[in-house]
Amino acid sequence: MPRLRPKILLLGGSAEAYALADILGARGDLDILTSFAGATRERRAPRGPFRVGGFGGAAGLARFLAAAGTDAVIDATHPFARAMSANAAEACRAAGVPLVHVVRPGWVQGEGDFWIEAEDMAAAAQAIPLGAGPVFLTVGRTELAPFAARPDLRFLARVIDPPEEETGIAALELVLARGPFGFEAERDFLRERDIGCIVAKNSGGGRAKLDAARALGLPVVMVRRPAPPEGTCVPDAAAAAAWLDGLAPHGGAA
Ligand code: NAP
Repeated sequence: MPRLRPKILLLGGSAEAYALADILGARGDLDILTSFAGATRERRAPRGPFRVGGFGGAAGLARFLAAAGTDAVIDATHPFARAMSANAAEACRAAGVPLVHVVRPGWVQGEGDFWIEAEDMAAAAQAIPLGAGPVFLTVGRTELAPFAARPDLRFLARVIDPPEEETGIAALELVLARGPFGFEAERDFLRERDIGCIVAKNSGGGRAKLDAARALGLPVVMVRRPAPPEGTCVPDAAAAAAWLDGLAPHGGAA
């Protein structure tokens, strides 16, 4: 028999996870627990309870699901956080818990964009044009080291927290900031810092920096996404909430 208040584990780390905590929390008929990896030192609190830290791989997550009596899992991690998505798939299969992945659509190159696509961060470093002015890295603090392979360039990296390990990059300036960022602020920043090239992950979401790059005619080295997780994927928070409702007739979560 379905529970009176189904327990939902929401794997966070994205804007969609915050939106889902709001949407589902407002219903009042679900117990929502948001989970964060703890990748940043501070974070905005979501609506409702949350926990911080890894589960200890797929086996650890399966144990967590059983102990908590979780009825459904929504994987709303970032599109590049594929290890967590894979662990969620394995753990939910083992524990017999329904799972959906929220995978927002990636950015698509449009007229006026000048993208150089790269498979991974090492390829992105090699793809930066020779002689480019200061290179603006928006790839996160844990993926800076591959750019040490380009000692011919100067880098500015926008990160939420400073990197914990030495990056090896000879000419690196850190810009500590947390998004979202608007178009005008991005354009002004790129101009003031005389940026010659941007490196980004194709995460989808707010594209102000890409619009600013287009407006200024700047090249963007775009790191392609990993393949989407296998299993049920939906594009946004509203679709994930609808998926949850669809579980009801089977005695699942809702
Ligand atoms: P990842 O490679 O997929 O995951 C690494 C490990 O971190 C996982 O195996 C898991 O540890 C733990 N973890 C990840 N997400 C978790 C969550 N929501 N709750 C509890 N544990 C979690 O992830 P990542 O790329 O390092 O990213 C870490 C977090 O930052 C993710 O939650 C992601 O949504 C967020 N984020 C990532 C990016 C990015 O570009 N990768 C960008 C923005 C935000 P255990 O194996 O011990 O369970």
